Amino acid sequence: MSATETFDVVVVGAGGAGLAAAIEARAAGARVVLLEKNPKPGGSTAWSIGSVSATQTPQQRAKGIADHPADHWADMPGFAGDLAHRDHDELRRILCEGMPETFQWLLDSGVRFMGPMPEPPHRQPRMHNVLPNSRSFVYHLGRRARRAGVALRTGVHVQALREHDGRVTGVEAVVDGRPVAFEATRGVILAAGDFTNSPEFKARFMGAQEAKVDGVNLTATGDGQRMAERLGATIVNGDLALGPELRFIAPQKETLVRRLPPWRWLAVFMQWSMDHLPPVVLRPFLMKFLTTALAPSPSLFEAGAVLVNRDGVRFCDELDRPAHALADQPGKEGWIVFDDALAQRFSAWPDFVSTAPGVAYAYVPDYRRNRKDVYAESASIDGLAASLRMDAGALRRSLAGRPGARGGAPQRYVALGPVRAVFVHSEGGLRVDTQHRVLRGSGEPIPGLYAAGSTGQGGLLLKGHGHHLAWAFVSGRRAGRIAAGAARHGA
Ligand SMILES: Cc1cc2nc3c(=O)[nH]c(=O)nc-3n(C[C@H](O)[C@H](O)[C@H](O)COP(=O)(O)OP(=O)(O)OC[C@H]3O[C@@H](n4cnc5c(N)ncnc54)[C@H](O)[C@@H]3O)c2cc1C
Repeated sequence: MSATETFDVVVVGAGGAGLAAAIEARAAGARVVLLEKNPKPGGSTAWSIGSVSATQTPQQRAKGIADHPADHWADMPGFAGDLAHRDHDELRRILCEGMPETFQWLLDSGVRFMGPMPEPPHRQPRMHNVLPNSRSFVYHLGRRARRAGVALRTGVHVQALREHDGRVTGVEAVVDGRPVAFEATRGVILAAGDFTNSPEFKARFMGAQEAKVDGVNLTATGDGQRMAERLGATIVNGDLALGPELRFIAPQKETLVRRLPPWRWLAVFMQWSMDHLPPVVLRPFLMKFLTTALAPSPSLFEAGAVLVNRDGVRFCDELDRPAHALADQPGKEGWIVFDDALAQRFSAWPDFVSTAPGVAYAYVPDYRRNRKDVYAESASIDGLAASLRMDAGALRRSLAGRPGARGGAPQRYVALGPVRAVFVHSEGGLRVDTQHRVLRGSGEPIPGLYAAGSTGQGGLLLKGHGHHLAWAFVSGRRAGRIAAGAARHGA
């Protein structure tokens, strides 16, 4: 027999969506428990860069930018391109109309941003970036939740939904190896993130090769989607994802920017610095952030760089989905190798190695300075092979045809890596209605069950920067309020 605890609303997952849902359900008077399987709240929200796109923000107003949610709604399909016909127009409207107030709600919670930065085809600058880093969301919303009286429990792995007479009445969880049931008199909100690290879901919706590629967030395993499917719910846009793509491995030690505590005064000081300090002072600081774990630009390969495995062997056409091929290589690791001419070319605009769009660009010298762990150079191919413990003959063959590869004058060779293939986020969420109620295949809502954030993405396309977090906060808040206002079961 499992122990049972009773609440009005049970929220599964303490990322951005779950925290927002719990706070709003509690504000509406519900007794709320927020269950998180990891030792700490955060999920992908804490992994993110932290861009949030919104209109009518205080930052926009301060810069004299007149903007409107209806324009935001109209601009978003421009990011989706050929996929735009698969979007969910009504959920997109909820997102765009909900953001001005939700952005203010984040500010009221203590979160601070810089920006807005331009990102075409947005007709106005809308991208705001959290300061000092994305842990700020989790810190400030976690504090707000606790102060409001939300019971935030970590180390609680939710395994299944409880159902009675076709209605969801709670969840079954495991805590310290023991089963515990949480009953929900009004509703359960699934806010358990995406399935970037579920081989089963990726094999089913994307393909066998994709299933071999890890997610950046290793605990994003699609638990919410899986539990709801067992009750007849369906997944929309399961084939869409950001990835597989190449990313530099993260530094062994957290960078200064990631270690900065999310204190409000520090964020305000950083915001002031961004607006007032000259770029020459800001640049070294931004580079610590930009060279952390970003994607190398594909233009390196277009310019002639090669991708080799840890043995120095070139294993694919770099212009044809190199991240897919990397998943089959030893250790799933690769190195981007190029000669001095390319190193010089990728040392200045417009040829950058990586970027956080609208924030800044990082070049080869930035990697030499900030990421010694992913940077190697030598005056010869053999020297480079020795420093990377690669087979020199194999590396020479991989670079065949490149200048200097057949002897000649010695010249500098550079390797950037290891890079790994990863999924950043996946778009396959449960089908929901505009009240965030989870729908069965028949289109009927499953009574008592709601979904928010990535789990409740419902077919909404979130291309462009800052829309995933925006959806997590907007949909989480709405689902929390709606679930708290639902009739008690059995009443
Ligand atoms: C590297 C990276 C950079 C990104 N940058 C941006 C960005 O700048 N802007 C943007 O808009 N988006 C960005 N994204 C995407 C964005 O972070 C996510 O889409 C968003 O945070 C999803 O929020 P969520 O609350 O739905 O899920 P999450 O934040 O992942 O939270 C889900 C939570 O549920 C918990 N959970 C899962 N299963 C269970 C279970 N069975 N029981 C209990 N708890 C469970 C998880 O542990 C997790 O804490 C980025 C993602 C990554 C990985």
